[in-house]
Amino acid sequence: MNDWNDRELGMGRGITRRDFLNGVALAVGAAVLPSDFLAAADMQAGREQSSEYYPPALTGLRGSHPGSFDAAHSLRDGTFWDHAGALVDTRESYDLVVVGGGISGLSAALFYRKRAGSKARVLILDNHDDFGGHAKRNEFSSAHRTMLGFGGTFSIESPAPYSVIARSLIHELGIDVASYPRYVNEHLYRSFGLYPKIFFDKETFGADRLVVNPMAVVSGESQDSPAGAGALERFLKEAPLSQQAVADYERLLTGKKDYLPGLSSDEKKARLARVSYNAFLSDTVGVSPEVVKVFQALSQPSFGIGFDAVSAQDAWGLGAPGFAGMNLDPVPGKGMNRDAIPNEEAENYFFHFPDGNASIARLLVRTLIPQAVPGHSAKDVIMARANYAVLDQENSPIRIRLNSTAVRVKHQGDPASAQGVEIAYARGGKVYTVQAAHCILACWHVVIPHICEQLPDKQKEALSSAAKVPLLYTNVAIRNWKAFQKLGASSVYAPSSYHSHMNLDVPVSIGGYECSQKPEEPIVVHMMKTPCKPGRPAREQHLLGRVELFSTTFETMERNIREQFARVVGPGGFDPANDITAITVNRWPHGYAYEYNSLWDKFWLEGGETPCEVARKPFGRIAIANADAGAYAYTDCAIDQAYRAVGEITKRRDRN
Ligand SMILES: Cc1cc2nc3c(=O)[nH]c(=O)nc-3n(C[C@H](O)[C@H](O)[C@H](O)COP(=O)(O)OP(=O)(O)OC[C@H]3O[C@@H](n4cnc5c(N)ncnc54)[C@H](O)[C@@H]3O)c2cc1C
Repeated sequence: MNDWNDRELGMGRGITRRDFLNGVALAVGAAVLPSDFLAAADMQAGREQSSEYYPPALTGLRGSHPGSFDAAHSLRDGTFWDHAGALVDTRESYDLVVVGGGISGLSAALFYRKRAGSKARVLILDNHDDFGGHAKRNEFSSAHRTMLGFGGTFSIESPAPYSVIARSLIHELGIDVASYPRYVNEHLYRSFGLYPKIFFDKETFGADRLVVNPMAVVSGESQDSPAGAGALERFLKEAPLSQQAVADYERLLTGKKDYLPGLSSDEKKARLARVSYNAFLSDTVGVSPEVVKVFQALSQPSFGIGFDAVSAQDAWGLGAPGFAGMNLDPVPGKGMNRDAIPNEEAENYFFHFPDGNASIARLLVRTLIPQAVPGHSAKDVIMARANYAVLDQENSPIRIRLNSTAVRVKHQGDPASAQGVEIAYARGGKVYTVQAAHCILACWHVVIPHICEQLPDKQKEALSSAAKVPLLYTNVAIRNWKAFQKLGASSVYAPSSYHSHMNLDVPVSIGGYECSQKPEEPIVVHMMKTPCKPGRPAREQHLLGRVELFSTTFETMERNIREQFARVVGPGGFDPANDITAITVNRWPHGYAYEYNSLWDKFWLEGGETPCEVARKPFGRIAIANADAGAYAYTDCAIDQAYRAVGEITKRRDRN
């Protein structure tokens, strides 16, 4: 249902954006022609030395940007080596090659250097044009100011407390997590009368309407009390819901009924662990389908799927309504997802930089290659302009080579006795080789069976089962937030819209960076979409979502974004054609590490060895890191797994 034409939405406007390969069929499963792959890879490789090479400032389609995944997909499809040509021997030799320049790979390089000494030679390869992996920085510059956004990893946060290792690294990087309240203006939006809202769309609920959100805490949008007392009453009056749905919603939020009488707390939890929250709502609580639709997308920011595929036990842990009268013991039940287990200590360990955890990645790079990110503190890193030209210098013991996809990692001889590993990588249309004493694969686990064929089949199977959760993190720079003020919205939960969440930027000012302070000032709006397919098993939803993200053009995404702005804040005077100044869509078909879920992973309920434990076993001179290695989509996991992987190879090195 489109009430706006392209001109009204501003589709033709000359906002800065790059959409290099929109015309190319990039669908998963569609074999990419070798010539496309070469062209794609050529776009950025070799340009890193130019002073104009500055990926954070690119807009348009970012995240897994065009050109970053073609070599890997060609490997997956079995076509890569047919067209690879002769290998080019770089004659380079390293103590360690790390595949993957995300937080895990960068941490691994640092941990290794600590053990092996400052002369240790380390090469980090990454297929993207920027370092940091999911920890991606988006910049928007105008004549007057630079605005920052997070293109992926949003903050230092974790459902469970950071380990000693992860905490120590954060501390060593100079980040004082406890100082966060000094930089965030928690009351900014409230001081202008802005609160979390829900947007009901007419296709699903019969009318486009923006209503106060009485459930903002569960959706993770804000700890603010939503417009204080009376929010529920206002919601019930204004929401475009049937009388029955209004009554059901009120009963759900305020009732104290025990829906599983006669069972002990453990027995109840065991039942709740095996049924989806949606099924619990409709079959046990007996609410109308309209109410189920209102809640459906609240779990997407945590799990990448809606409540159709998340257990009722996890919904209870997240604070969803319906459990107030069930006398559930406040201790985690068997099979709970770690995201759903509340932990006060972990909640207090929170820090958000304006570019998210890209600041952590940049601090790691500064520690490894000081001249690459000027400055001395965790505060000045915010405004520092990274110098990409020095990332890969011959005389530097640590080198980061971007636009380089590892395509083969092979022991030189029998893995049990080999003296080294050969790593082949695709870059700029050619395939190069380097030698290393050890290799750490800190890349996505699904890639590993395709690049490391020597691994045992059981391990390959476990690695392949770690297919990630697809996500879209969109940053939209707008001229001002007057329309948001007029409508009283600081964030919008839109359960059935293209993006399910739409938030004004977190108001953090730090290190000379000033957040938007007044409605008249420009700001970045952060939007989130998980392309899930409700009603199917979780992994199937992720696969289909991945296909959707790879095959949707930027133009389609842009039209959806503009239309969503027109519908949600248009009534407050927002004009998408004039008020949007830039759009960056961070496409992550391989997003969160897959976390185990009691509905779909029996072993998670029953106990025993988990696939990630099988997947991360060391193999000869190769060790395996990445957040996938802990099946836990958090930065602390990426760090912990790097530490373990380094421990494995250095133990082996010391033995030899
Ligand atoms: C949108 C989004 C939001 C998130 N928000 C948070 C958050 O707020 N807090 C939090 O703690 N965590 C968050 N996470 C989880 C995040 O994944 C981890 O925190 C962490 O950043 C993962 O780091 P990593 O190094 O393990 O993986 P990645 O960051 O994925 O890095 C792995 C790198 O390896 C590269 N690679 C893959 N194959 C190859 C190859 N063959 N050759 C070369 N390179 C290769 C990848 O392209 C990637 O750059 C978020 C994730 C996403 C996707």
